[in-house]
Amino acid sequence: MPNTTRPAVTVLGLGAMGSAIARTFLAHGHPTTVWNRTASKAAPLAEAGAEVAPTAAQAVAASPLVVVCLLDGTAVDEVLPAVESAVAGKVVVNLTSGSPARARAVEQWARAHGAEYLDGKIMGDPPYVGTDRVLFPFSGSRSAYQAHEQTLRLLGTVAYHGEDAGLAAVEFMAQVAVSYELLIGFLHTLRLVRAEGMDVADFAGRVAGSLPAYPALLTSMGEAVRDGAYAPDLGPLTVQAALMDDLIAHRESVGADTTRMREVKSLMDRRIADGFGGQGFSALFEGLGEGLGERAGAGRAE
Ligand code: NDP
Repeated sequence: MPNTTRPAVTVLGLGAMGSAIARTFLAHGHPTTVWNRTASKAAPLAEAGAEVAPTAAQAVAASPLVVVCLLDGTAVDEVLPAVESAVAGKVVVNLTSGSPARARAVEQWARAHGAEYLDGKIMGDPPYVGTDRVLFPFSGSRSAYQAHEQTLRLLGTVAYHGEDAGLAAVEFMAQVAVSYELLIGFLHTLRLVRAEGMDVADFAGRVAGSLPAYPALLTSMGEAVRDGAYAPDLGPLTVQAALMDDLIAHRESVGADTTRMREVKSLMDRRIADGFGGQGFSALFEGLGEGLGERAGAGRAE
């Protein structure tokens, strides 16, 4: 039996992720109403104790908190018009993947129809929903987040990134981008290691062993960029730059890619030429993306 002291929740979308979310709410005793375009997918949730609504609008009407977890923005755009008459006074939490611009557009829609909006992104897999292994960045209405934080915490590790509804998507995309940028560099380096006849798995193990140094380094680099104060992290640029020709030549000698190393060298050379050779690696930030428009308040802590 649902525990009626816990707030009722609606989940729109019962794919792998939406179903895992609905099950988590049910497991914690939240009266849970579900809706899915293909009605048959709701049957297992009904067995687990969910109310199945025949329409999305009826599902929205059933709870103050409405979680949307559909395939993509196109699906969201198709479902939202059908619930317009029911969302006033609700908190809509959209966990569907998508861009910051889409999140901001859905927020506009919610406001226009009298609802509060929280955008959320999901970093993890459905079987781990309900554990701290799944990360949920949120952004949008602060009051909605505060009102429902306890319920949202049931889903995994949550974090609130600010009133701008696009920031959860920014966090998601930036986290994915960091992984890809680091890991492609790692893979290129494995090519070099293998070309030199070294065991790539052993090498990877040694790199893994060096990771404990990174949390402090990444945090201090973030602070250096925020403050524009560049201590000689990894050593002064003049010293680091002296290595670059050898690094590039070594890569060329084994046919490994030199694109990123050449970028690093050119950024170092420019920074040194500008008179900042005593600064560290973080100072290369100053040479990146010149002319990029930055959003008001960017870089300031929330
Ligand atoms: P699924 O493919 O399992 O489910 C997609 C859901 O969207 C279904 O409920 C489907 O309904 C619905 N849907 C698709 N198109 C429409 C439409 N035009 N109108 C109405 N409903 C529609 O995807 P997931 O549940 O795995 O993913 C949901 C969201 O979670 C996605 O944005 C995904 O990127 C994100 N996510 C998923 C992860 C995962 O590992 N699965 C990990 C992290 C994020 P129907 O059943 O009728 O087809």
